[in-house]
Amino acid sequence: MSKTRESSALAAQIMRRSDELGAVSEERGCLTRTFHSPAMQRANKLVASWMGGAGMDVRVDAAFNLIGRVPSVRRGAKCVLIGSHLDTVRNAGKYDGPLGVLLGIAVAERLRGTALPFHLEVVGFSDEEGVRYQTTYLGSRGMCGLLRAADLARVEEKGIAKARRPVREMLAYLEAHIEQGPVLEVSNRPVGVVTAIAGQTRIRASLTGCAGHAGTTPMHLRQDALAGAAEIVLAAEKMGVLATVGQLEVDRGASNVIPGLVRFTLDVRDVKDAKRRAACAKLQRLAVAVARKRKLKLRWETVQETATASMDPALTKLLLKAAGSRVPRMPSGAGHDAAVFSACCPSAMLFVRCKGGVSHHPGESVKESDVAVAVDVLVRAVLELAKRHG
Ligand SMILES: [Zn+2]
Repeated sequence: MSKTRESSALAAQIMRRSDELGAVSEERGCLTRTFHSPAMQRANKLVASWMGGAGMDVRVDAAFNLIGRVPSVRRGAKCVLIGSHLDTVRNAGKYDGPLGVLLGIAVAERLRGTALPFHLEVVGFSDEEGVRYQTTYLGSRGMCGLLRAADLARVEEKGIAKARRPVREMLAYLEAHIEQGPVLEVSNRPVGVVTAIAGQTRIRASLTGCAGHAGTTPMHLRQDALAGAAEIVLAAEKMGVLATVGQLEVDRGASNVIPGLVRFTLDVRDVKDAKRRAACAKLQRLAVAVARKRKLKLRWETVQETATASMDPALTKLLLKAAGSRVPRMPSGAGHDAAVFSACCPSAMLFVRCKGGVSHHPGESVKESDVAVAVDVLVRAVLELAKRHG
């Protein structure tokens, strides 16, 4: 995993561009860019100028995805896409998403003048985080033709389904992204290769008991909704999957009132779908038992379920080879546009080490030398693809 002088210069440029792009926000004093906002349009314009500078033809599609293309001279050539997203969460860091787009542009710059047997496209997706409509991947699902009627009913921008492209023209999809976790830092590696993007279940639940006076109701006569919820929270921790209760709210809570109603969320993830489903079913059975024992009323609703997206074995092998033999292989607990593309064409993902595993926070940080390694890995991967399809 060495880095070349050209990629070091490109990495320095990526760091400068990350700072510049990180200042393009719809909120003063922090970074927020949501789907189709004026800030997204300004970001697209800025990134388009860099794509143009790298010799790419630039356009924005019907789902507001920014696409830079280096056309191949080969007749009937397919397309290799390098993408990530340009939208952000609220009060975001500057690398989650944009880094992958800027790395793609750096690859195009490095390969300038190299005849490739496929069109090389760099894509900045318009919506991965889903902040504006609470529906994720509008950009990549729009391009892959995977938007549902429910998505279109939810958005004001009715034309986004026209971004659909024929899947048969897509040869491969590559995405680089910050890890958003501590594994690479702990193992002291600049980059890692993603094996699969973990499936996810989101549950909304509530327990209803009986509110009462904290001083006058004997312990054995209570129907304390929070005590019941606490049992479920602790059980979730021992399920052997990634399980998180991220929201827990005591309805009209007060220090001298026994909690009568508690609402909470549960986020369950694992790369093995069967294991995730089994954990959810077990937790639900346990919640039913807790409710019965404590005479509480349980509501349990699965609001979202996504299956694990496996990365393409052959393309992942190619990326591993490009990254060097000792590169860590790891699952992704967070969702990415690559999960969408994996349903359409061979897809693979590269993680770049980030400081402290911090993401979705202004404290996001990457090392310039790690970015240089990522440039080299991606360039080698594209050249290897060219050799195989040449
Ligand atoms: Zn992201």
